[in-house]
Amino acid sequence: MVEREFSEGIKTIGVITSGGDAPGMNAAIRAVVRKAIGNGVRVKGIKKGFQGLLSEEIADMEKKDVADIIQRGGTVLGTARCPEFRELEGQQRAAEICRKHKIDGVVVIGGDGTYRGAMDLTKQGINAIGIPGTIDLDIACTEYTIGFDTAVNTAMEAIDKIRDTSSSHERCSIIEVMGRNAGYIALWCGVANGAENILIPEYYDYNEQTIINSIIANRKKGKTHHLIINAEGIGHSTSMARRIEAATGMETRATILGYMQRGGSPSCKDRYYASIMGAYAADILCQGASNRVISYRHGEFVDLDMTEALAMQKKINDYQFEVSKVLT
Ligand code: ATP
Repeated sequence: MVEREFSEGIKTIGVITSGGDAPGMNAAIRAVVRKAIGNGVRVKGIKKGFQGLLSEEIADMEKKDVADIIQRGGTVLGTARCPEFRELEGQQRAAEICRKHKIDGVVVIGGDGTYRGAMDLTKQGINAIGIPGTIDLDIACTEYTIGFDTAVNTAMEAIDKIRDTSSSHERCSIIEVMGRNAGYIALWCGVANGAENILIPEYYDYNEQTIINSIIANRKKGKTHHLIINAEGIGHSTSMARRIEAATGMETRATILGYMQRGGSPSCKDRYYASIMGAYAADILCQGASNRVISYRHGEFVDLDMTEALAMQKKINDYQFEVSKVLT
């Protein structure tokens, strides 16, 4: 981080969680509150994302208000999707509410959509710093997002359990994990759980007949189970299970892991990284920075221009995806 002086102009900041909740968000909130107060700046918690800002659900936060939350999943501030905030009128009203509550800048914790909202707020004269919070790992400017580590470990443990029973009953299991537009959870679990097939939205070119043929061939070789990890973005797990069972004669069941992947106590990595990112965001906001996002790149925590960060593209590493197919 570049050394900067604390700004005389920044006396009060707000903190918001927005978009989907992710384990580790509480660690980030705690760090923002405690670091800013340590810098001599007041903090206000804004409840339920941008929706709560528009409905003025705003409360002072002291160091003690974030006690006993670092180990808890979800977000103590709550989160919401707020269509109104996509309109200029909503953004102008939000800025007026910030001024009314003497909030000079905000730390927003969320995904790409949240960053877009934050950027719009800066255009209305309110400083904003983004922190990447999403279990999907699908923010281009950073190699780490808060919640991914916990979510992928939660999914991996659940899949291990399904695999045990699948082997005992000589079943084929299709397990659907989260990731509507991004296959990171599916890819990581697929490799970590030793899945035979990994289906992700970035590579929608899988061939069901090829999967069926490999199940039949593996059965002949004496393999007792077949595990398919299906990203939410591919979907149709139940109908896929019916078709595979009909074509192979192997009992096939679909399990959709769903929201359990979002919950639970954050991993050590999520607590630690979220804490550093929260402190970093509070520091640069107190120093007068705006329109920046905190990122983890090449082993370091850095801050980047939010507009440039939002223009970046991210894709699944081709080599890693190829490797995932040959380790079965
Ligand atoms: P996740 O990755 O978990 O879905 P996200 O932050 O991308 O998180 P979104 O629902 O896309 O989730 O965005 C959260 C909120 O940010 C929206 O409900 C809306 O209030 C605001 N927002 C999203 N996109 C924009 C935009 N283009 N302009 C202004 N505000 C936006």
